[in-house]
Amino acid sequence: MSTTAENPHPLPSTAFIGLGHMGGPMAANLVKAGVQVWGFDVVPEAMNAARRNGVNVVSDPLDAVAQAQVVLTMLPSGQHVLSAYEQSPGLLSAAQPGTIFLDCSTINISEAQQAAALAQQAGFRAADAPVSGGVVGAEAGTLAFMVGADSEVFDQVHPLLDIMGARVVHCGDNGLGQAAKICNNMILGITQIAVAEAFVLAEQLGLSDQALYDVVSRASGQCWALTTNCPVPGPVPTSPANRDYTPGFAGALMAKDLGLATNALDEQGVDAKLGRLAAAIYEDFAAGDGAGKDFSAIINTIRDNSTPKGVQE
Ligand code: NAD
Repeated sequence: MSTTAENPHPLPSTAFIGLGHMGGPMAANLVKAGVQVWGFDVVPEAMNAARRNGVNVVSDPLDAVAQAQVVLTMLPSGQHVLSAYEQSPGLLSAAQPGTIFLDCSTINISEAQQAAALAQQAGFRAADAPVSGGVVGAEAGTLAFMVGADSEVFDQVHPLLDIMGARVVHCGDNGLGQAAKICNNMILGITQIAVAEAFVLAEQLGLSDQALYDVVSRASGQCWALTTNCPVPGPVPTSPANRDYTPGFAGALMAKDLGLATNALDEQGVDAKLGRLAAAIYEDFAAGDGAGKDFSAIINTIRDNSTPKGVQE
């Protein structure tokens, strides 16, 4: 284990599996902080970029796992995580005693609990630690981590998460990190639609975007979807609307996260009409050209589906 002057806690050696948009810069930040990182991805370009950032890339993920005290996965879905753990031979087969399996992917709560149970049944420890903050946060080391783990595991992974993030919250036992992530993104998906609907209504009523922004940003409708991710160009110059809705947070990712929220709502039997409706709206949006646009571009769908002012049906 290595330590840094700023952080007296030991930094566990890490196997980093999944070096994509998020994993690549997260692994690079660990290397910069002095952590020994062994990395693997199925895509050669991702491996090459990681090598340039100082990651010890290996052609067999089991070689990475065998040298590490923490096995961090940053993969597209729960199926990817479970099959990486389980496949024969899987990551669990190569780990040293005491290894912590730390999954930072966004996956179903039930899949996170299943992944943790697999690790624990094999004699290891486990945490789920999904993130928010996107690629910009991954590059800047300012992600927010929502952690599901017992207190001892949380304390051990905290120093690593502190390097990659600006905020680390212990949400409870295994699976509850994913629960926090999914609840947050359900609020976000719903509020972004609400803000977009308000701007389209205001346009039809003859109220300027700036006037609506000036009122609502200091009134009870104030929210992140308005004051950071404002869906119209102008009032917030850094919002994706000012760059033709280049993400930001892509519609496909919002559709994915709201699908996870819907699964959790179904499993728990929760009456959440807006959450389910937002999931359906973003599923349609991502099936078209919204997949690669920031999710705030939902305003264009709402505008397109509206009857222009003065036009009689
Ligand atoms: P990505 O597709 O860019 O990266 C995933 C990487 O995993 C890819 O490079 C892929 O080749 C690799 N991979 C797939 N199967 C593998 C395997 N068996 N072994 C090794 N590597 C494998 O996705 P991303 O944007 O980096 O997102 C990763 C996770 O983070 C997802 O669960 C996503 O929902 C979540 N997330 C993404 C963002 C974002 O803004 N991109 C924000 C928050 C959370």
